Amino acid sequence: MDASPVARRPIVGMVGAGQLARMTHQAAIALGQSLRVLAADPADPAALVCADVHAGVPTDLPALRAFARGCSAVTFDHEQVPQENLRALVDAGVPVHPGPDALLHAQDKLVMRRRLAGLGLVGPAFSEVHQPGEVAAFAAEHGWPVVLKAARGGYDGRGVWLLRGPEPDLVAELLAAGTPLLVEEAVPMRRELAALVARSPFGQAAAWPVVETVQEDGQCVQVLAPAPGLDDAVAAQAQEMALRIAAELGVTGLLAVELFERTDGALVVNELAMRPHNSGHWTIEGSRTSQFEQHLRAVLDYPLGTTTPTAPAVVMANVLGAARSPAMSMDERVHHLFARFPDVKVHLYGKAERPARKVGHVTVLGDDMAAVRSRAALAAAWLSTGEWPDGWSPHTGTYEREVQRA
Ligand code: ADP
Repeated sequence: MDASPVARRPIVGMVGAGQLARMTHQAAIALGQSLRVLAADPADPAALVCADVHAGVPTDLPALRAFARGCSAVTFDHEQVPQENLRALVDAGVPVHPGPDALLHAQDKLVMRRRLAGLGLVGPAFSEVHQPGEVAAFAAEHGWPVVLKAARGGYDGRGVWLLRGPEPDLVAELLAAGTPLLVEEAVPMRRELAALVARSPFGQAAAWPVVETVQEDGQCVQVLAPAPGLDDAVAAQAQEMALRIAAELGVTGLLAVELFERTDGALVVNELAMRPHNSGHWTIEGSRTSQFEQHLRAVLDYPLGTTTPTAPAVVMANVLGAARSPAMSMDERVHHLFARFPDVKVHLYGKAERPARKVGHVTVLGDDMAAVRSRAALAAAWLSTGEWPDGWSPHTGTYEREVQRA
């Protein structure tokens, strides 16, 4: 028997080796652990930094079993894991968090919509689509536009289509390709919010402040923590809803509830994620306990950490690959960014830059949300493109027209 301290450390296995696994690994180091990852590609963000990398994909059950052997808990960087493989692990006695019954609601939007409706939670009107004509029939009842969605497999808005009229060819093509579809009413909204909570197998739960997720082209570009101007009662309602969903679905680990704030002020659930989430990256610097540490604590059934914010206003901005290749290398861009914004915290994922791909993020803390947000936007845009916005001077930190006005 190996009684060395290394052997006694818990091993958390994360299926997938993207940036979420990479940042979870960073949190694992502080807890004296080293995350084990199942990496589809040796160049995946976490595979580049973890010591314990298993090559393989979660559709390959033997690879998944070998990866899970010896793990104190198996958890996920993404949802693309076949249910039957998860159940095989559970049957073999592997502690899988979240378990397959819970995870199904983050894998399948139809299952999720039906379950939440069963819990009496307000969601958009929706219907399963088996034939192209069903989309127009749904719109006849609920009006155009409608939102067509792949029930499984979509992310970052891929798998979501806003339809302003019947598009039978698109629907037929998707159905012919075997894509399970649903159609939803297009929710008239003020903005999008997210409520992030953690729940341990013991049943302890913790919630972070509700955030606003700013979207562009179906992709999150910024997260504002806390959501500016959100009524305290509405924020508490969102947290309670997320805690209730976590408990009812038996979620272990993190649960992110993506919400729409409708124009009439009501909250509507958009979708669920059961893993660290882009809407929680701000917690690395902006909360006493980051989402990544909390996820590890939760899946290992440790007591959870304090979620108190470290500043009145925190903004996370994603660094997206630019449409045009920047002239400067990323390293040069980081160098210049640090010269201009010494307080901005940078997280790069080790990914090649491609248009609109999330290659990193920045976090800014402060007292005034508007000021923090504009600094985060400038920093992220600079890292993306290597260009400052027209008229903005990195030397003075102001727009030229402001200088001229002054
Ligand atoms: P993904 O799983 O790819 O993230 P989502 O279901 O979150 O897809 O949808 C992506 C984006 O599309 C949402 O953030 C929102 O901006 C928009 N969207 C999705 N569903 C609706 C809806 N029913 N009404 C209005 N906008 C929607």
